[in-house]
Amino acid sequence: MSNILQTSPIKGRPMPQDLFSHLHFDPAQGHIWLAGKRMMLLHARAFALLRREAIDALGLEQARAIFTRQGYHSGALDAESAARLRPHATIDDMFAVGPELHMLEGMVRSEALHVEFDVARGAFSAEYLWHGSSECGAHLETAGRGAYPAGWSLAGYASGYASVFLGRPILFREVECIAMGHPHCRVQGRPAEEWEEGEEDLRFMRGEAINQIERARSSARGGSEQRIVGASAGFNVAFDMLHHVADTDAVVLFLGESGVGKEIFARNLHAMGRRADKPFVAVNCAAIPESLLEAELFGVEKGAFTGAHAARAGRFERAEGGTLFLDEIATLSLAAQGKLLRAIQEGEFERVGGVRMHRANVRLVAATNVDLRAAVEAGSFRADLFYRLNVFPIRIPPLRERRADLPLLMEYFLERYSTRYGKAVTGFEGDAVAAMLGYGWPGNIRELENVIERGVIMARDGEPLRLHHIFGGGEALGPLPFRVRAGGRVENGQAAQEGDDLDLARSERRMIEQALARSGGNKARAARLLGITRAQLYYRLEQMGSTS
Ligand SMILES: [Zn+2]
Repeated sequence: MSNILQTSPIKGRPMPQDLFSHLHFDPAQGHIWLAGKRMMLLHARAFALLRREAIDALGLEQARAIFTRQGYHSGALDAESAARLRPHATIDDMFAVGPELHMLEGMVRSEALHVEFDVARGAFSAEYLWHGSSECGAHLETAGRGAYPAGWSLAGYASGYASVFLGRPILFREVECIAMGHPHCRVQGRPAEEWEEGEEDLRFMRGEAINQIERARSSARGGSEQRIVGASAGFNVAFDMLHHVADTDAVVLFLGESGVGKEIFARNLHAMGRRADKPFVAVNCAAIPESLLEAELFGVEKGAFTGAHAARAGRFERAEGGTLFLDEIATLSLAAQGKLLRAIQEGEFERVGGVRMHRANVRLVAATNVDLRAAVEAGSFRADLFYRLNVFPIRIPPLRERRADLPLLMEYFLERYSTRYGKAVTGFEGDAVAAMLGYGWPGNIRELENVIERGVIMARDGEPLRLHHIFGGGEALGPLPFRVRAGGRVENGQAAQEGDDLDLARSERRMIEQALARSGGNKARAARLLGITRAQLYYRLEQMGSTS
């Protein structure tokens, strides 16, 4: 029953059905997503017991600090989504995303008594009644009536949300609470400096220590031009190994399917290590013809062979002092493997046609998508070279094993390509998110990146990426994960997909009609506007004619 949804959290406002469309259940993975962020359902009763235990173990002050901070972080995360969720809304409607998400998350229903802000002057003042706070109710039940308000996580959420939304410190305090015997929980928010000891309170909420850790992590990741992005368990294992080995000269071997980002990991390894100010030279072994490989790696002396008109340094020499990255190492011929092994073992090499020995002061990093052990057994890879390379293997999991990183990666690539193409793309439409979360990504991150780049090119300025913008390259979309439709009804893949097909047909028809209107009925021009051939346009017009 959806009668709980019939009351708008804020008088006169429509129900947050737009927000519902950003809630997805993916039971196959055990994931729940809200506005692109991973969520968990937990029992309110278990949460109440957790609070009770924290108070007993840590004391009231420490327990309050922890739950307030947890709330603050939730609010801050939701504030990051607000503008994306309601890109064209008035500032009031956009701000209301916070209290509405908080309600959708099952925390509390907020009734706004007044909300006033002046973004330009930084003025803010708000007052809400909280109805049915599970946190305050639980406190009353497990700790009894007290002399202090109990909506710790709730007040933290409101403060975190408003502070991040307005970009300045806003503090919410609960001034009346059912856990103190009041008929309602009543909460007020204003700039921290307008409260007595407000800034101190807010510092405590933010958890400065946590912020410092976050900053340290993000600066480590941002060290090179291409960031590695991720937060999933699989990603963190790989990233942690990278950290451990970065500052050594040990040979690192990256393992993983095509497209998982092995070269980006290698570049970050270089950027994090002590050779960071020296060159990083990448060689894709599969891209260089066998006959040229030796010359590419070790260089050529003048006259070494027909066409060698001048002496040329190889990749080993160009990487002097820095890192040499050999991608797709398993594609090297046995002869080339032998030469590479000698260079690694002796620490020196000679150019093709040369006699002088060159010292090789490079850190070697290699990568492969092949099981090298099996290649050794099959006789296509030298065992001695394998043991030289397999000093510190790091496995980078395929994207389907690190789905928790999808929202991060989606935002990262969306921002990159919106900037590159100078388009204000406002995010991802709910159906597009659902499809991306449900897709298998056989081409891994490279495929995700291509799909988003294509989507940004296709999307209109000021609009979100839609399903048909991103999946148009013949991808085999699996069943869509569960999602919540308007009115709070949960639907699974098939029915939803049929709906999508209809949506798709409808939006395609709209696009074609608009293109024809803009071209004044000129079909050749309309086809150009749509980026399709005239024949394709005729075909589609025929299809439209037969269904209307
Ligand atoms: Zn309360």
